[in-house]
Amino acid sequence: MTGILMDGKALARQMESELAVRVQQLIGQSNGKVPILATILVGEDPASATYVRMKGNACKRVGMESLRVALPQTTTTDELLREIDRLNADPDVRGILLQHPVPPQIDERRCFDRISIEKDVDGVTALGFGKMAMGEAAYGSATPAGIMRLLRHYEIPIAGKYAVVVGRSPILGKPVAMMLLNANATVTICHSKTVNLPKIISGADIVVGAVGKPEFIRGEWIRPGAVVVDAGYHPGNVGDIEFSAVVEKCAAYTPVPGGVGPMTIATLMAQTVEAAEKSVR
Ligand code: NAP
Repeated sequence: MTGILMDGKALARQMESELAVRVQQLIGQSNGKVPILATILVGEDPASATYVRMKGNACKRVGMESLRVALPQTTTTDELLREIDRLNADPDVRGILLQHPVPPQIDERRCFDRISIEKDVDGVTALGFGKMAMGEAAYGSATPAGIMRLLRHYEIPIAGKYAVVVGRSPILGKPVAMMLLNANATVTICHSKTVNLPKIISGADIVVGAVGKPEFIRGEWIRPGAVVVDAGYHPGNVGDIEFSAVVEKCAAYTPVPGGVGPMTIATLMAQTVEAAEKSVR
């Protein structure tokens, strides 16, 4: 039996068409002003440039404007902080996205945390993470929040299930673990120092791959009937999980591409629209 394909691309498309209606309503309520998402790209990393372009295109599709800020590779922390301050103070900018990663000379955490909480639509600030973890209103980190939306859309049972998250990055592993915990899963977070990863994964009802290494999580580690979420994306259209060995035996899975990636962008759009709606209330 083949597992259910959790089609992030289709759900993202559906979300975008609903968002487009809300954006038109917003424009009507704010004297024709189009909501703006500011994107900051530092340096010339081609993958980051592609992600920023994709986010700009998504803005267009839902009727928002994207304000592209491109800074040179040599940008300092202070220069980036000044740029964020400028966008924080701009009343027309509803959300700010700082594309990760930034060049190594920049203190990324300080810069993320400078984004005002009302404009942290990508859910990267420590304050936003803390609020989310405490179950208070906050924009969730976009990829984890997109994963949770996808699981809910496909009515995947989470409460009481054993979830194993492989990866503990601030924008992905940690927040998705916290969101699963808030949804009443029992959660284990694994990382590069974890001992006996295959054994831990083999007990999981839900496996989230957020490692950043192609097909690192082997199909044989995953038990039949598990729900498999792959956040990784690598050349050759492979993720962090060895899917060929999983599709036939799992209960549900996210394809690569077309699973988590489109949900990340749609969630960023949804959170920007929400921020814009709050500003006109
Ligand atoms: P990251 O910051 O590099 O974090 C990778 C995590 O994997 C770290 O916590 C690391 O552990 C852990 N890890 C590395 N080797 C391991 C091993 N041998 N065993 C167990 N854990 C190990 O990456 P990230 O930013 O979270 O991204 C992870 C993946 O998701 C990447 O493929 C990335 O492209 C993808 N991603 C996709 C989206 C999207 O929109 N679809 C968004 C963000 C990221 P330590 O903490 O111990 O080093």
